[in-house]
Amino acid sequence: IPLSASDYAYSLRANSPLPDSLALINSSTGQRVSYSEFTRKTQTLASYLHSVIGLSKGDVAFVLSPNLIQVPILYFSLLSLGIVISPANPLSTESEISSLIQLCNPVIAFSTSSSAHKLSNISLRFKTIVLDSPEFDSMMTSPVITIDRVEVSQSDLAAILYSSGTTGRVKGVMLTHRNLIATVSGNYAHRTERKSPAVLLYTVPYFHVFGFFYSLKSVALNEGVVLMERFDLRKMMRAVEEFRVTHMVVTPPVVVAMAKTDVTDGYDLSSLEGVACGAAPIAKDLVSAFMAKFPRVVFLQSYGLTESTGSAWRTVGQEESVHWGSTGRLLGGFEAKIVDPDTGHALPPCKQGELWIRGPTIMKGYIGDPEATSATLVADGWLRTGDLCYIDEEGFLFVVDRLKELIKYKGYQLEHLLQSHPEIVDAAVIPYPDEEAGQVPIAFVVRQPQSSLGEADIIDFVAKQVSPYKKIRRVTFVNSLPKSATGKLLRKDLRKIVFVNSSSRL
Ligand code: ATP
Repeated sequence: IPLSASDYAYSLRANSPLPDSLALINSSTGQRVSYSEFTRKTQTLASYLHSVIGLSKGDVAFVLSPNLIQVPILYFSLLSLGIVISPANPLSTESEISSLIQLCNPVIAFSTSSSAHKLSNISLRFKTIVLDSPEFDSMMTSPVITIDRVEVSQSDLAAILYSSGTTGRVKGVMLTHRNLIATVSGNYAHRTERKSPAVLLYTVPYFHVFGFFYSLKSVALNEGVVLMERFDLRKMMRAVEEFRVTHMVVTPPVVVAMAKTDVTDGYDLSSLEGVACGAAPIAKDLVSAFMAKFPRVVFLQSYGLTESTGSAWRTVGQEESVHWGSTGRLLGGFEAKIVDPDTGHALPPCKQGELWIRGPTIMKGYIGDPEATSATLVADGWLRTGDLCYIDEEGFLFVVDRLKELIKYKGYQLEHLLQSHPEIVDAAVIPYPDEEAGQVPIAFVVRQPQSSLGEADIIDFVAKQVSPYKKIRRVTFVNSLPKSATGKLLRKDLRKIVFVNSSSRL
């Protein structure tokens, strides 16, 4: 059946239409649109892009923008025309942008006034459109020119999303309309009935699969969305109070900040019902600290990859709190197994190995990279996640480490231990070459502002809790750790610092 992902989201919304309810609000400017305006704007923009500019089905549109109201409107218009969306981090450098453009081969780019200069040396078939400009406003509001309906089918390509590049080269993940529809329908099935629509606040970027998925899911569920262009804890708390936010969608650094600082005090957070966290690992002690501080807020975790169009595993409710440290159970429609990465043989419950998953949201492949595609999408539609995990007897997933980043000492384990120290805000562990042991773990630590914790205290704190070979050998104090836009630790950047100057301080 021909059906684009945007039509699908609209069709689900038709079950509970509240045309005047809030669709989107920009927390810094106060600019807002209702669902009836959202629908009108997406249709008007689609007709403009098709009939005036001349974009047609199968074209690729490059999008370089932070979380602005214009972005989901643009996404819905492009999806309805069968135009492939290729969004990238607006903080990318010009050379990163030019390699992404070579990969996805777009005909047009959309950007903001502050990033447009990064595209000035790139010539595409159509000129760049600036999203925060009067010109774009008029494209969304000019009278509707009726256009023939563009037939988009579920097997058509819908988006090329870039993996975070945490472990190496960035790859362009090709997702079809079917992939997007399946991920939204999986989440729709898990929705909870509510008297009034949920109000979500997210800092997760629209250019990453996490935010991209939410752009569709929020429309399908009639949710109001409060957007923040940049994460700032105080502003975030103020926005929760002001807009009576019911749910926050965040990555681990936000949970760390909420659990470990007193910035949240003094705000009225009584509207907050739940916090959904994903995209990167979080220590179970931090989850407990968060739950102790916000006992009324349901904490949910999810696990997924760009290659699986987002979440494949999710905790369902607070009752799963006994499984703190787990990223939940497999969502409907997926199959999973733990495999010995060397032999490809499936392993029994509780044994650690590589997680393989398959289901309707698994990507079509990596654009322009058949070798990486065949190494990742193996026989019978299985996706190799590259994550070292185990699944317990009850089906809960535990992510132990990334195979590609694995160090002998289980980096995640030591990081989580360090983060459990009350005076440590954040920590990272990387391997350092050692003549005797081959590799030893060294740590980077962010302390609480008033802390007088020294290197010896930290080495001692860890040494008391781990076997001798896992002892931390060196500690470097830093003000912050290098993280990706979705809160993933960029260990390769730490490695660069250590190896450029072995006695360096950040
Ligand atoms: P690249 O493949 O380019 O290095 P990336 O894998 O970081 O980038 P993403 O698709 O953003 O790109 O990240 C997917 C990975 O994020 C998963 O393979 C897993 O390692 C990690 N991840 C996601 N959710 C969780 C979670 N809840 N707990 C632990 N790890 C998670």
